[in-house]
Amino acid sequence: MLLRGGTVLDVDGERRADLRIGRDGRVAAVAPALDADADEAVIECAGRLLVPGGVDVHTHLHLPVGDLQVSDDFLTGTVAAAIGGTTTIVDYVTAYRGEDPMDALATWRRWAEPACVDYGLHMTFTERVPERAIAACVEAGITSFKLYMAYPDLLQVDDDVIAEVMALTRKHGAFVTLHCENGGAIEALRRAALAEGRTGVMEHARTRPAEMEAEAVRRAAALAERAETSVYVVHLSSAPALAEVRRARARGVDVIAETCPQYLYLDTARLADPDGASYVCTPPLRDPWHVEELWNGIATGAVQTVATDHCPFTVADRRAGVRDRAGGFADFTEIPGGLPGIETRMGLIWEGVVAGRITRTDWVRLCAEAPARTFGLWPAKGNLRLGADADVVVWDPERDQSLDASALHMAVDHSPYHGMTVTGWPQLVFARGDLVARDGRYVGEPARGRYVSRSAPKRSTPERST
Ligand code: MN
Repeated sequence: MLLRGGTVLDVDGERRADLRIGRDGRVAAVAPALDADADEAVIECAGRLLVPGGVDVHTHLHLPVGDLQVSDDFLTGTVAAAIGGTTTIVDYVTAYRGEDPMDALATWRRWAEPACVDYGLHMTFTERVPERAIAACVEAGITSFKLYMAYPDLLQVDDDVIAEVMALTRKHGAFVTLHCENGGAIEALRRAALAEGRTGVMEHARTRPAEMEAEAVRRAAALAERAETSVYVVHLSSAPALAEVRRARARGVDVIAETCPQYLYLDTARLADPDGASYVCTPPLRDPWHVEELWNGIATGAVQTVATDHCPFTVADRRAGVRDRAGGFADFTEIPGGLPGIETRMGLIWEGVVAGRITRTDWVRLCAEAPARTFGLWPAKGNLRLGADADVVVWDPERDQSLDASALHMAVDHSPYHGMTVTGWPQLVFARGDLVARDGRYVGEPARGRYVSRSAPKRSTPERST
C-alpha cells in the first residue's frame, strides 16, 4: 500500500514524502515521489500529515477498583485508542499484597486478550519482593515497575522498598515509575478534613496539595541518585513538582517526567461544578497557574512524555461512590478517581500546536517517540523509519472533532472536555499495516493486538561521570 502526497513527520523531521507499507506490516519505503507497483493500493494524502501511531504508556483498562470496575475494558479502550490515533498502550498490572506477581501478570494477559492495538505491561509492586520476582518480570518482557508513595491502605510502599526495588531493577536493566505524593501527610490532611466536617468534592484537591507532590518528587530523585538509576515520575501535575524535576535533572539525575492532558487543560474550578465528582483524579486538578507551567515544561523538554492515566468511571458509579453505594458517596474519599482520555490525547496535544504552545515536532516526540524510547518499544514503535512497524496515522489538521462523550468511543458517559472542539484528528489509522480506523470508526479485526515484550529501556540523558 502506498500513502502518497502527504507530509511525513517523525524523529527524522518533517518532509514531503510518500510512504509504502510492506506486506509484512512494516514501513517499506519513505521517499519523495514513489511509483506505485502494479497491484498496489494507493491512498492520496495531500494536505495530511503521516505520523507514527501514538504510544500511551499509562492506562488502566478492565481494572477493578473496590466493588467497581473502570468502564473501559481492553476491547472498548483499545478501539477508542485506535480511533484517536494511539496504536500502542502500556497498561499497569498490580500485584496486590500477598499476590504472586506472575499470577497478576497472567490475570492481566487474560483480560487483555480482546485488545485491538499492541500492548505492553508495567508491573506494580505493593510490598517488598524478592529479586527473582523482578527477574521473572524482565524475562516476561516487563522492564518497568511501578511503586506508589501514596495510598497507604492498599498500594503505598515505604522508602526502604523503593530504594531496594530501584537497586534491583537497575541490576536487571529495568527501572521504576513512581506515583509521587506524600501519602502519610495526605492521610493526615484527609482525616482532619473529615473530622472538621469538610466532606465536599473540593476537599479532594485541598487535601492533596502540590507541595506534597513536590516533596515526593524530590525524595524520588534523591533515591534514584543514590541508586544511580533512572526514575520515571507518572502524571506530574503541579509547578512545584516540575521545579523539583528540573532541579534534579540539572544536577544530572535521570528523572523522566510524564504529564497528562487533564493537567494541561483542566483546573480546580471543575471540582466546584455540579458534576464535580466526575473530575476527581489523583493527583488532583490544580489552579490555573500550574497548568501554564506544565505547558512550559512540555515545550522545553523538562517533561518528556504525555500519557493519559486513562481510568474511566460512569457518572452513576462516581455518584454512588466506592462504599455503601445505595446512598451515594458520603464524602470526597468515597469517589472513585480517574478520568477518561485514551481517545483524546493526540487531539488535545495537537491543539497545543494549533495554539502555538508547542511545535509539531514536540507533539510527535511527546506522544510517540519519547514514550517508545523510554519504555523499550523503540525502534519498532514511535517512528516511521524503514523496518519500523507500520503504525501510521494519517492526520487531518483541518478536521473538527467534538470532545463530547456522544462523539467519542470510550465506554463512558461523561467527557471532561465536553463542549470543546479540537481541530485536527485522524482520518486513517494503520497498525502494523492493518487499517484499523477510518473517519472516526474502528474498521480493524477484533482482538488483533499483540503483547509486546519490551527490551531494557534507555537512559534519557548521558551517563554521569563521577
Ligand atoms: Mn495511574
